[in-house]
Formats: sequence, structure tokens, C-alpha cells
Amino acid sequence: YGSILSAVLGAALLAGYLLLRDVHREAETALMRSHFVASVSHELKTPLTSIRAHAETLLMGRAGSAETTADYLKTIVSESERLTRLVDSVLEFSRIEQGRKTYHLQATRLDDVVRSAAKTMEYPLAQLGFTLTIASDGTAPILLADPGALTQAILNLLGNAMKYSGEARHIELRTGTRDGEAFVDVVDHGIGITRDDQSRIFERFHRVQSNETAGVAGTGLGLPLALHVVEAHRGRIAVESQPGRGSTFSVRIPLQVQA
Ligand code: ADP
Repeated sequence: YGSILSAVLGAALLAGYLLLRDVHREAETALMRSHFVASVSHELKTPLTSIRAHAETLLMGRAGSAETTADYLKTIVSESERLTRLVDSVLEFSRIEQGRKTYHLQATRLDDVVRSAAKTMEYPLAQLGFTLTIASDGTAPILLADPGALTQAILNLLGNAMKYSGEARHIELRTGTRDGEAFVDVVDHGIGITRDDQSRIFERFHRVQSNETAGVAGTGLGLPLALHVVEAHRGRIAVESQPGRGSTFSVRIPLQVQA
């Protein structure tokens, strides 16, 4: 009897533990989702406020010179693009969650992907006083890839480099071929990430809570999205980072054997 009783007791304890763990996880997910809704709403509000303020000033004829008017219009365009990127990333994420995300592969020059991501970020980077250098090793790898999705992944990394740069104002993009893989390194000199956090930042909705990140808007979807895209290309993303010194996010994609 003793052994049967202890087996039953053990099973009951295990079931209880598993149930509690599930409940705990669900509560955690619910909390993360509500944070997510709050941060998405906040992220929508910031560009909307800016678009509205600039448009109203233009409407009242208060912008002044032609140059200022052009600056206001550029801001409106750039903020609208930011809104589009945010909405796109939320839609993209729900597509992934529902298993509906598809990739359209074609021969793609990685250098072109890097340049197109850099071009998209040119204006927001310049506005905040950033310099961006692009270093290509000249090997110009061609991948079987979805150029749009890959551009999105690099954009997310570049956007993060900008958001988490702290006082630093320089970002580097390096691309080429290394150890039989095509690579894109996104290098910033910003706030960095502790080792503990490095293992969690690719989880959906996960955002590092610290003094340095307190004022930075985000949804916690950028990295999981980028990782999904890169893994769909049979690649991976490596992080090297030191708190206070900066981070390097390195996208690596194996080169397919050409037919
Ligand atoms: P978001 O930036 O919208 O919060 P991400 O999924 O892109 O979401 O990133 C998750 C978290 O990882 C960020 O909230 C931030 O704490 C951290 N992080 C990402 N990139 C960097 C970086 N380049 N430097 C420092 N921290 C970063």
C-alpha cells in the first residue's frame, strides 16, 4: 500500500505542480499582452501627435520659409512611415502566430537588402544626429531569399541600434561572407545588454526594464520577428554585447549551393 500511496501522492503533486505552472504562465502571458497593448497604443500615439501638430502648423500657414515647410512635410512623411512599419510588424506577427506567414524566395543580393534598409532609416537617423557607415567586404553574396522580409529583419535591428544607442551617435553595418555564410552585422555603441537579458530578448514581448530603456518606446516584437525571418532562411542571429559599451547583432545565413 505504501508504495501505491506514495506513487498516487507523487502523481497528484506533479499534476498540481504542472497545473500551477500553467496558471502562472498564462498569468504571465496575459500580463505581457496587456503591456503589449499599452505599448502599441503608446507607439501609435507618438507619431500621430507629431503628424497632427506639423500638419496643423502648415494648415495655419505658420511654417515660415519654404525650407521649414519642406522639413515639416518630411517629418510628416517619415512619421507616417513609422506608423506603417509599426502596423506592418503587428500584422506580420499575427500572421506568424497563426502560421500564415509565407516567404517568396528569389535570387537576392544581400548588399542591396542592406542598402535598402539603410535608405529607409536615413532620414530618422539624420534627424537624431546619427552617422551610419556601411562596410561591404566586396564578396557581394547572392542568396535565395525573400528580399522584403530580410529588409524588414535588418530594419528592426537597425531601428534597435538607434533606439538603444544612449548618448552614442554612430552605427555600423557590415556585410559580406564569413565561414561559408553570408552575414550582416549591425553594430551600435549604446547601452548594451547584460548576459542574462541576452538570452531573453528574442522572446515575444520581452523588453529589458532598466533606467536606460525606461523612456524608449517599443513593443517587444522587433527581435522575435527578425529571428523568425532569419530562421526561415535557415540562418541565425548572434548577439555580442557589453553593458555600457554597445551591441553587435549578427545575422548569418548559409550560402546555398548554386544550381
Ligand atoms: P522593442 O525594441 O520594441 O522593445 P525588440 O524585440 O526589438 O523590442 O527588442 C527587445 C528588447 O531587447 C528591447 O526592449 C531592448 O531592451 C533590448 N534590445 C534590443 N536591441 C538592443 C540594442 N541594440 N541595444 C540594447 N538593447 C537592445
